Amino acid sequence: MAAYDPNNVFARILRGELPCKKVYEDEFAFAFHDIQPKAEVHVLVIPKGAYVSLADFSATAPDAMVAGFWRAVGRVARELGVEERGYRIASNIGREAGQIVFHFHVHIVSGARRP
Ligand code: 5GP
Repeated sequence: MAAYDPNNVFARILRGELPCKKVYEDEFAFAFHDIQPKAEVHVLVIPKGAYVSLADFSATAPDAMVAGFWRAVGRVARELGVEERGYRIASNIGREAGQIVFHFHVHIVSGARRP
């Protein structure tokens, strides 16, 4: 697994160096709208820590972080109002799987797809 690059785009968003459309924040997680939404609702949730991917996060994050992060994912979906109609969560792990930003993130996707 490649080393974490502290200058990846999501690290820079977390530090406030790049703008984003913020949805939610707590001590464990930060959520914002995807810049190129693939559906009516497309939000990214990232942990407040240096994790390359879910593989890295699940292996190395402290239990409190793992619990806090996944609670935040559920809460963001609830607050986005997508629980009733349903939503999909996805996380690409590795370049071949389509990961382009190497700071662990979960996609929350709901509603009509966009081209
Ligand atoms: P991945 O393919 O790594 O799972 O997903 C990365 C996601 O990040 C893509 O859906 C892409 O549109 C989004 N993205 C890339 N750069 C930015 C950015 O600067 N701001 C925001 N809000 N989203 C970004």
